[in-house]
Amino acid sequence: MPPSLLLQHAPCARPTAKRTASLFSAAVLASKDGGGARPPRPRPRGKPRFSRQSAIRKSFQQEQVVFSTPVSPDPTVAVIGGGASGLACASALAARGVRSVVFDTGMHGLGGRMATRAVDDERQLVFDHAAQFFTASDERFQKLVEEWVERGLVREWRGSIGELEAGGHFRPIHSSTPRYIGVNGMRPLADAMLPENDLIKVIRPSWISKLEPFNGLWRLFENEKPRGQYDAIVIAHNGKCANRLLSTSGLPQLTKQMKRLELSSVWALLAAFEGPFPIPHNNSYGTFEGAFVRGVDSLSWMANNTRKLFPFETDRPECWTFFSTASYGRRNKVPQENIPNATAEKVQREMLGGVELALGLSKGSLQLPFYTRVQLWGAALPMNTPGVPCIFDPQGRAGICGDWLTGSSIEAAVLSGISLGDHVADYFASCGERPEEFAIGLDDSLNRVEGHDIGQFPGLDSSQKPQVAEAQLTATI
Ligand SMILES: Cc1cc2nc3c(=O)[nH]c(=O)nc-3n(C[C@H](O)[C@H](O)[C@H](O)COP(=O)(O)OP(=O)(O)OC[C@H]3O[C@@H](n4cnc5c(N)ncnc54)[C@H](O)[C@@H]3O)c2cc1C
Repeated sequence: MPPSLLLQHAPCARPTAKRTASLFSAAVLASKDGGGARPPRPRPRGKPRFSRQSAIRKSFQQEQVVFSTPVSPDPTVAVIGGGASGLACASALAARGVRSVVFDTGMHGLGGRMATRAVDDERQLVFDHAAQFFTASDERFQKLVEEWVERGLVREWRGSIGELEAGGHFRPIHSSTPRYIGVNGMRPLADAMLPENDLIKVIRPSWISKLEPFNGLWRLFENEKPRGQYDAIVIAHNGKCANRLLSTSGLPQLTKQMKRLELSSVWALLAAFEGPFPIPHNNSYGTFEGAFVRGVDSLSWMANNTRKLFPFETDRPECWTFFSTASYGRRNKVPQENIPNATAEKVQREMLGGVELALGLSKGSLQLPFYTRVQLWGAALPMNTPGVPCIFDPQGRAGICGDWLTGSSIEAAVLSGISLGDHVADYFASCGERPEEFAIGLDDSLNRVEGHDIGQFPGLDSSQKPQVAEAQLTATI
């Protein structure tokens, strides 16, 4: 961690703990008991802890919440979202001695868009069905990745990847930049990211539906069920869910920034094939394991999970992940929780047709997969970004972290989480006495994100064609 991110203020009542040796170091402590936060601590008597009258600022029909009491000596932060950014934020807070509770909706594990599906089949079908691989350009992230490699959570993906032009013309990407994958997929990596210590508690599956300032603390609810009281909150997710949660929160500045975010939609087709996949050998590079597809409307990426994750197990069926382009996703968007059968069938047909087109196979000649699953990532990747490491509203004691604050990658998400965790710890250490010094990212305008339809891979290939630009960016608010 660079010195600029270290504690900059003398602790007020309770010294922030020394940093642990590493941000992430052992298995996650998941809890399904719904235990929520520790019981509320006794508070000093006196004036109400926040004011809706003074310092009221109206924006988006919301009054700004202003917390005016001293920060607790032993604060707890609620982190809403257990994707890469939320996990990084909780870890950074713990490294500074600050408690947190991470809430996540994940039924099968943490990770959000670091998602791996293991199909309950005796042949063990495994698919990374969102994030595929990542690169590491920032020194802080590189250190973390090295640590993950040492712990056996991550390894380099050395299989051939490249660009596949419609018609079966494959050009490998030659780059010295290492490409990383979760050894058992992305979700197992996310599940093992948190340090094993009693400063972090995980509650999942849990969908936080309401935030309410009360008596100097934030109260959280899942439907009507109380989920504890917290000194500060972190919104570590985005899209419709976050807009809904923020809309009645009393945090108009965070609401405004979140509403400015525009997200692409991407269809995923998971398909398992009995025999080896018919990758054309009409080039000198042999087979490939992953390809950014060019010139096919229904396809932007295809990858062989079996070769990627189990390179030495040759008797497994081939499990492929195919992603559509963002423009195809936009034109074929439906409610992702309730995809009509007819749409799923059409998308599957068109994406498999796209695979034939990309590989230069004749129509209908591709062997039929014995397993398929179609999924829409309705809020897939950010199309615009404020370009700030995190957002924090010190008056409302609330912040936002996530990939979209600087880009569209796991690296961007992790760095944003670390930045916000450190920022909140600094704010606590200042006793909340100079809130104005801690406001960050509340007014920055958003600019277009460049990159592939499935995100950014810094250092991989400077000649990458920006694909997100295809998806029309409407004017920001
Ligand atoms: C199709 C696709 C392919 C991609 N490929 C790559 C790739 O190859 N490489 C790469 O680097 N990046 C890739 N990405 C991007 C990468 O996955 C993201 O940038 C990163 O995982 C985002 O992390 P996050 O923490 O910001 O958000 P998320 O991962 O979205 O985490 C947010 C979490 O919050 C939870 N949540 C939401 N609302 C609530 C609530 N009310 N209460 C509790 N929990 C809630 C969500 O369920 C989720 O688990 C891809 C993304 C997609 C969609």
